[in-house]
Amino acid sequence: MNKLIKIFTILMVAVMTVGLAACGATETAETGDPLSNDPYRWNKIFKEYRDDADVNQLVFVAGTEGSEAEMFLYVKDPSDNTWNRELETRCFVGKNGIGDASYCANITPEGVYGVSTAFGIKKNPGTSMEYVDFNDSDLYCCGCQDSEYYNQLIDAKKTGHKDCEGEHVIDFSPEYNYGMFIDYNSENDPEEDYAIFFHCEGMKEFTGGCIAVPEYAMKQILQKCDSNVKVCIYRRGE
Ligand SMILES: [Zn+2]
Repeated sequence: MNKLIKIFTILMVAVMTVGLAACGATETAETGDPLSNDPYRWNKIFKEYRDDADVNQLVFVAGTEGSEAEMFLYVKDPSDNTWNRELETRCFVGKNGIGDASYCANITPEGVYGVSTAFGIKKNPGTSMEYVDFNDSDLYCCGCQDSEYYNQLIDAKKTGHKDCEGEHVIDFSPEYNYGMFIDYNSENDPEEDYAIFFHCEGMKEFTGGCIAVPEYAMKQILQKCDSNVKVCIYRRGE
């Protein structure tokens, strides 16, 4: 090889290596990747919680089209407070997408939410969150708008609330094999929606306002998250 060509080749390889390294450097959670088309929203959330010692996991639900969305789980590295993406999957949201939810509107509520409890028909997969055993035929999530129990998990026998028109949770398998109750409508306002859960996928490619991910992903979310996790739900590009 001619010496000049050799030097040129070495230079090109060096440039390409630097180039690749630079690309690699931009592909960190801090830039919002893979939400690179609309990094502002997600970067703002990353920054907001980076120095919040209580919040160590972020679950992003990014709506793409209709009831289709993507889910990303980020876990904080305590050594330098950076976010590492540990899980990503497609997921489904309400039939009418993400937005301003209300009673039976089939809309997944937009915003940043905490989690009140985890639950499941299957046994606790090892989450540190409070875990409600849904394998109990007396348990309902009340959807009766005129009831004092609206939007609450209740034991029909203990409360005496008979003929509840809400969800008999044990009937929702595989959806409720694992899940968590997000704190949307924590005031239990009857004009707002009820039983807004983060749960496993069933047969449908949409939900009634919940977020549905594959069961393996739901299980991992429970295993990797604590009760201070934030669930951030927005449409992409907004
Ligand atoms: Zn009821």
